[in-house]
Amino acid sequence: MADFDTPALKPYPVIPPIEIGVMAHSKPYVAKPELQQKIGFPGELVDNWQQVAIDKMGELVDTSRALRVFLDSCVKCGACTDKCHYYLGTSDPKNMPVARQDLFRSVYRRHYTLAGKYFPGLVGARELDQEMLDDWYSYFHQCSQCRRCSVYCPYGIDTAEISMAAREIMDTIGVGQKYCNEIIGKAQTIGNNLGLPQPALLNTLEGLEEDIEEETGVTVRLPLDQHGADILLVTPSADFFAEPHVDGLIGYAKVFHQAGLSWTISSYASEAANFGMFIGSYDNMQVLAQRIREAALELGVKRIVFGECGHAWRVAYNFLNTLAGPFDFLDPAYPMPQHICEVTYDLLQRNALRMDKSANDDKVLTFHDSCNVARASRMGDFEGGQFVIPRAVIQASCNHYYDMPANATKEATFCCGGGGGLLTDDLVELRVKGSLPRMEALKQAVDDHGVTPMAPICAICKSQFSKILPYYGMEMDQIVSVHQLVSDAIQLGGEH
Ligand code: SF4
Ligand code: SF4
Repeated sequence: MADFDTPALKPYPVIPPIEIGVMAHSKPYVAKPELQQKIGFPGELVDNWQQVAIDKMGELVDTSRALRVFLDSCVKCGACTDKCHYYLGTSDPKNMPVARQDLFRSVYRRHYTLAGKYFPGLVGARELDQEMLDDWYSYFHQCSQCRRCSVYCPYGIDTAEISMAAREIMDTIGVGQKYCNEIIGKAQTIGNNLGLPQPALLNTLEGLEEDIEEETGVTVRLPLDQHGADILLVTPSADFFAEPHVDGLIGYAKVFHQAGLSWTISSYASEAANFGMFIGSYDNMQVLAQRIREAALELGVKRIVFGECGHAWRVAYNFLNTLAGPFDFLDPAYPMPQHICEVTYDLLQRNALRMDKSANDDKVLTFHDSCNVARASRMGDFEGGQFVIPRAVIQASCNHYYDMPANATKEATFCCGGGGGLLTDDLVELRVKGSLPRMEALKQAVDDHGVTPMAPICAICKSQFSKILPYYGMEMDQIVSVHQLVSDAIQLGGEH
């Protein structure tokens, strides 16, 4: 356990009184020069960094009308102030969304508005000096880009976009974050965030096939680089070995097997996560997106399906076509991209899977809506599909299911505390404190309904919860993959 106090779980929700500057010390490690340069940024702080930053800011507000509108339209109504999990968990007022935005907005005003140029003191305009840069580095790495604040803002101002822009500017002047930039570099050269080469991946998948056969007596394949397969599965690399992720991967394999679908994983595009989004870098997002396109073409697949990963689904759903399209070589009869939950839901709707819900009778389940699925994308062809479909898949796999309180689910869901490129041990205090609202809502579901465990559809959420649950007196295994539940309930064999 680390050197800080875990917040006490309170009746949910309680808004804390402010404590100025209590999280100013929280900063992730800075990326070393070689990591920066590998992904196209200066190795260290450039000499004329203030001018370079201001120029980059101008470029960003010129190319993104949304960003300029977000910066120009805040009326300081205060509706967002108590909506961020990092404020609720830390009490630091700079973690109020409007205050976080103002770190950026004050510099924007100074350089890109008439009032800010001539009367800076009257409009809260400020220079980007060293003190401000320190605040940027600290507090823009205390935003998981979850978009919860934007749901409550009457103008829809999205702090996530401002946070991404701030991180892109910092990378541009040579002050990048080690965790994100190291991972981006690895995924671009090896194909996945873990740096897992093809032989190791093959070995892992063969081991999983043996495990499934031993447990069920059925041969279920997890094919790698299989030319001519119909489906390319792109999944977070954590699915290949980490608990509880890997149990989800076994679930996808069983679904494909039982439905008689031919599929493959690619060793070249063996990563669904795309951390380029967290640093606001479309260039870096594009490199990984192109790998998926190249793998799909090379393997000759007809469909692309994404595994359980929140931000990967956001990138895929919102950007894949623009970054690496057109995907007109795929079968137009299927959505592009398609989520594994959509695949399973569709099969369940058509009675193509036999499920024994009693296999999960030892559990009382709840679902954690992952931010990037809940608020930044959707599923299915109907409104709210991203809320309905995962719940339907869970409820087809178990007899005991309860939602957490309404102000902590669906559009109002709370971040796990480790999203947005913050899932690193140098930010563990922030991660523990930022998960407080989710832990409080979970505790209420535990008290009210005896819920345990909780299932998310995001690799980051799964890793984050496994790490922080013990800080709140809960067990690491109180977190499961949605397709782990499917895996336990699905009946293998018989007619497809
Ligand atoms: S996007 Fe999420 S983490 Fe960032 S300020 Fe808004 S609520 Fe907080
Ligand atoms: S809710 Fe929107 S308009 Fe109101 S203070 Fe927050 S960002 Fe500004």
